[in-house]
Amino acid sequence: MSDLTFEIETNAAPRSAGDRAALMANPGFGKVFTDHMAIVRYSAGRGWHDAKITARAPIPLDPAAAVLHYAQEIFEGLKAYRTADGGAALFRPEANALRFRRSAERMAMVPFPEEAFIAAQRKLVEIDRDWIPDTPDGSLYLRPFMIANEVFLGVKPASEYLFITIASAVGSYFKDPNGTVTVWLSEHYTRAAPGGTGAAKCGGNYAASLAAQAEAANQGCEQVVFLDAAERRYVEELGGMNVFFVFEDGTLLTPPLSDSILPGITRDSIITLAREAGMTVREELYGIDQWRDDVRSGRQTEAFACGTAAVITPIGRVRGREDDFTIGNAVAGPVARRLRTLLVDIQRGNTSDAHGWFQKVF
Ligand SMILES: *Cc1c(COP(=O)(O)O)cnc(C)c1O
Repeated sequence: MSDLTFEIETNAAPRSAGDRAALMANPGFGKVFTDHMAIVRYSAGRGWHDAKITARAPIPLDPAAAVLHYAQEIFEGLKAYRTADGGAALFRPEANALRFRRSAERMAMVPFPEEAFIAAQRKLVEIDRDWIPDTPDGSLYLRPFMIANEVFLGVKPASEYLFITIASAVGSYFKDPNGTVTVWLSEHYTRAAPGGTGAAKCGGNYAASLAAQAEAANQGCEQVVFLDAAERRYVEELGGMNVFFVFEDGTLLTPPLSDSILPGITRDSIITLAREAGMTVREELYGIDQWRDDVRSGRQTEAFACGTAAVITPIGRVRGREDDFTIGNAVAGPVARRLRTLLVDIQRGNTSDAHGWFQKVF
């Protein structure tokens, strides 16, 4: 058994307090990085070893490293939140650790131990605590990932891996966190196929979605909504967020998990919180024709996307080659706003948490 205690090597030249404050004044998303990273190595002979929290720095990669050729890569995304007492907390990190394991299994990578995954997040948040924004929309976004770094061009599961976590001080994901997004209905490109990697959080799924995302941007839309690959009929999810529909009788509907839908932790949390609040949540297939009809008839009052980065983002308008429809009045609806408040209050420790989701780091 390898020893996965993290050795701590403090960055000898961290950013000055002044530089840090300037960077954090308007951090945007994924641009402002902290002083440290967590890194652990795997080799077939030694197992997982060399666990460190160390100065954030470029990682040397051999040009024949397997990830550069065959894309054995997975990642996660979770946030550390500043709490009212000046401490910090994580939200359901064990769910990310478990999903990371499942993603590794799908990509034929060596799973990273779940306790070490959680320890890496906690230690990084502790050492980079000054980088956690204390603004209402701010948080420290943690990005654990794993790559195959065996130097070999043969096609097979690699025998060497690197696990790394980096951290980024972030504000809100979309420019206007109270606004709505317009989504582009992708009728040509699909994101994930039955039997494929859609339920694994791997970079390859994102690479496959970027042409559709570019098409959306050309059409003035912020996000893409994908249909199922087999029939191009059922709404699956956005490029990086799950989707919910709200009906006039107050019920919610979200597509059921499958091997082409990413099992979002925000999705799962919303289902739980909505049911506890007395709402009916159905996990059912939802066809694009039905979506058009339900919006036209007024039966559907809201739709929203959800994920860790942007929490809950109302969908105001849907456009496609032959579609252009507006949901509600293209404003954030009451159900989306209510669920957002329920979730954010738990994440930030403003309310009691019956599920053990809120986990204090310090
Ligand atoms: C990460 C991700 C989500 C959202 O998952 P959360 O755990 O809620 O952040 C949804 N869809 C895709 C494709 C994703 O990669």
